[in-house]
Amino acid sequence: MSDMQAILIRGGRVIDPYRQIDSHDEDVWVVEGRVAKAPPTGADVMEVDARGLWVLPRLIDMHVHFRDPGQTWKETIETGSRAAAHGGIGAVATMPNTVPVTDTPELVEWVKNRGEAVGLVRIFPIGAVTVGSQGEELADLFRLKQAGARAFSDDGLPVASSRMMRAALTYSRDLERVIINHAEDRSLTDGASVHEGLAAHRLGLPAAPETAEAMMVWRDVLLAGLTGGWLHLAHVSARESLEALSYARQHQYRVTAEAAPHHLLLNDEALLRWQYDSVTKVNPPLRPESSRQALLKALKQGLVNVVASDHAPHHLDEKALPYVQAPFGISGLETILSALITALIEPGLMTALDAWALMTTGPDQVLGLHSQGLAEGEPADLTLINPTRKWQVDPAAFYSLGHNTPLAGMKLTGQAVATMVGGRWTMREGEVAYAGLSEIS
Ligand SMILES: [Zn+2]
Repeated sequence: MSDMQAILIRGGRVIDPYRQIDSHDEDVWVVEGRVAKAPPTGADVMEVDARGLWVLPRLIDMHVHFRDPGQTWKETIETGSRAAAHGGIGAVATMPNTVPVTDTPELVEWVKNRGEAVGLVRIFPIGAVTVGSQGEELADLFRLKQAGARAFSDDGLPVASSRMMRAALTYSRDLERVIINHAEDRSLTDGASVHEGLAAHRLGLPAAPETAEAMMVWRDVLLAGLTGGWLHLAHVSARESLEALSYARQHQYRVTAEAAPHHLLLNDEALLRWQYDSVTKVNPPLRPESSRQALLKALKQGLVNVVASDHAPHHLDEKALPYVQAPFGISGLETILSALITALIEPGLMTALDAWALMTTGPDQVLGLHSQGLAEGEPADLTLINPTRKWQVDPAAFYSLGHNTPLAGMKLTGQAVATMVGGRWTMREGEVAYAGLSEIS
């Protein structure tokens, strides 16, 4: 046997929300794919100089669309995984609105296995709540869980029927798996492309009020109370959704929520800047400044406990359609980490330790992963970040097949310089490792 390999990450600022550690004095050893206290004697040590860098445990983006199977011109599990590695992300939860919808144990297993074969990011599949996400018949949640589904969602679509949502939440309690709902009363948003406000009016675009989101969030919160179920609110953006969340917290309902980075950095005035370019077309839409401020406050207060990208890539030809016909969604995996720094840490709104909880302990809790961060013996999943590097978003440089984002051209602060999953570098200095070299241990 040759000498054992060990990696020493030395001199960085270790920020580990799992252990509530923010320290300049902790070096990280990686031995055989795991975090270690020290190297075995005689080990061949490779030292990484992390001075000036942040060392974070696995960053989780719990809301991504990899379009695989079925819409592989938009994204595949491989290209999505590369985008994640590039963005400094070590784990993702994939939404089931694939073609066909991921509503069977076989498909959940397929997504999981494909992710492992690519080997660049840990993939936690989300199973559909209803068959085909049609909202009419509950999917076999028990078998989906057995196959590895970490959560259930019909995202892209809301669970429209209150009766169905009640049933799903009842199952969530017994299965110990969360229901993630995309809250939108479609009878109010039908045909709408943007938020109903001044910008929409100026551009003459069909619009819907944020009440359409808040109404269903309130319904879901009340049903969580009724059932004792486990609810996670996807991409909350409306001011009154946060009121509902606060109500849930007061009554100790089991409700968590996520915010998307574009809702933190932009308001609906971005529409005036981009005019009829569909890069601003996201669902839920960009909201007025007052809602953005309320969202930032909710993050600071701990009411919203997750930041997730809603990475929803589309082909350029699709996004090039007239605004009203273009699909909702943008690529977010390669900007989420920098967006979090720029929106929350740089302006001093949150401490680094609290802000990084939004992509570590927050989603970990929602997905029930029970990781221990960078504690000894844990899988060596980590990200090194240059916290002061300023860079301009250039979607042409994305590894994602989708090159659409309203953050294009923006100057962001902080960038991932290395991503490690299972002790293996999946990205270093912007260069993503090739897929399938070895499976994640
Ligand atoms: Zn959604």
